[in-house]
Amino acid sequence: MTVLLLPPVTSAPADYHRGAEALTEGPRFVRTRGMSRWHRPRDGVRYDGGHTVYGLWCGYSVGGSDKAGTYVAADEPGDGEPVCATCEGRAAGAGHDESPTGRLLLFTPRHIDPPKNCPASRRGLFEALRGGRVGRCLVCGDMQPLRAMGGPYNPRFSIVQHPPGEGLVAPCPFHRWRSLTAVDGRAVCECGRQETP
Ligand SMILES: [Zn+2]
Ligand SMILES: [Zn+2]
Ligand SMILES: [Zn+2]
Repeated sequence: MTVLLLPPVTSAPADYHRGAEALTEGPRFVRTRGMSRWHRPRDGVRYDGGHTVYGLWCGYSVGGSDKAGTYVAADEPGDGEPVCATCEGRAAGAGHDESPTGRLLLFTPRHIDPPKNCPASRRGLFEALRGGRVGRCLVCGDMQPLRAMGGPYNPRFSIVQHPPGEGLVAPCPFHRWRSLTAVDGRAVCECGRQETP
């Protein structure tokens, strides 16, 4: 049995994780032999050469070579084996499992939902339309006014701050919408990766 994993969002620079694969499914419980309790994977990354690291809901991570057996996985911990309370509570609160108390638990992971403002806001990620006063946002597709910014000696045009439009590009599994750049008139993540919507 596998569970759905969240994207392995990182604050590392965009060229970090090059060649790594963001896993969308993983085991329900993991631990290393030295750990005193089972934890729950929140996200996972498989690196070149068969090395997997799971990020846990409690903030720790578990991983190692896929062959070496440095960690063990399970659908259900054995009778009486302790489980990390932070992992159990957060996974249930994020809707990944039944609430262990029967009460409605809520946990909202950061950086997963689209940002309030389109990431192109106040930047040059637009295609200018005729007349030069309005641009098509390369990130969300909306038409928005352009504004001169940067001062009289170094003028540059930016698209105004706006909420993300319907056509918001799919996020990068590692950097979400935070490292977008324009390539051939399209907004893509600087790491060259994009989730397929
Ligand atoms: Zn944990
Ligand atoms: Zn936009
Ligand atoms: Zn990226």
